[in-house]
Amino acid sequence: MQYPVDIVCHRCTIVLPVLDTPVGRAAWWRFMDEHAYHPVEILWEHSGAWERIDIDFIQVDSDISSDPSLAEYAGDDWAGRPLALQARPVARAVAEIVTRVEDTFAAGEWQVAAGDAAVAEQIAKAMDFAPPPGVLVDEATVRARSAAVLAALERLHLATAEPVGEKFRAVLEEFLRTLPSPSDVPVAALVAESGPLASPRLWDVERALRLVQHLLNQVSFR
Ligand SMILES: [Zn+2]
Repeated sequence: MQYPVDIVCHRCTIVLPVLDTPVGRAAWWRFMDEHAYHPVEILWEHSGAWERIDIDFIQVDSDISSDPSLAEYAGDDWAGRPLALQARPVARAVAEIVTRVEDTFAAGEWQVAAGDAAVAEQIAKAMDFAPPPGVLVDEATVRARSAAVLAALERLHLATAEPVGEKFRAVLEEFLRTLPSPSDVPVAALVAESGPLASPRLWDVERALRLVQHLLNQVSFR
């Protein structure tokens, strides 16, 4: 009997199902070629590392449309590859905060204040973007995406002045310290770094904000 096994590269934040089919084997060899010298781990159903795999990870053959199929991953048709496999330091730092807060939810240590859910829902609305890595960009697209990032950062900043509980305010402030400030991501630099795919720094922050939104959604339902 064959057990489902996956392999993860923690540096490139990508998970691949290991399958004994022609395309599965081709994908496996591609993964070995790309990640053999990286921090790679074999995952089985109950591996503890699953808990560290969040929505920022690329999951090959998942049902998320921006993730590559096995065939796309194995071959050269995955347009997003050069961007998706770049390290995302901001997203990783934000993921650590999200995991820690989720642990306080699970442990029943999160004290919900009256205003938290409504404010979380409002901020989350300003973050509704998660462009796939393979999207081709021009200057106008980069400017629009950069403006959306800055608007989301500004919305987070404003929320710290709203009537939220101490725990939630502390988390919002920690997100703001971890995310870049507007002067760290000048639009001219992001435009210069982009093409044909988005700037890795821009995509990193977008993915980080997606993780923030994921946590805000959980707060809004509490
Ligand atoms: Zn890797």
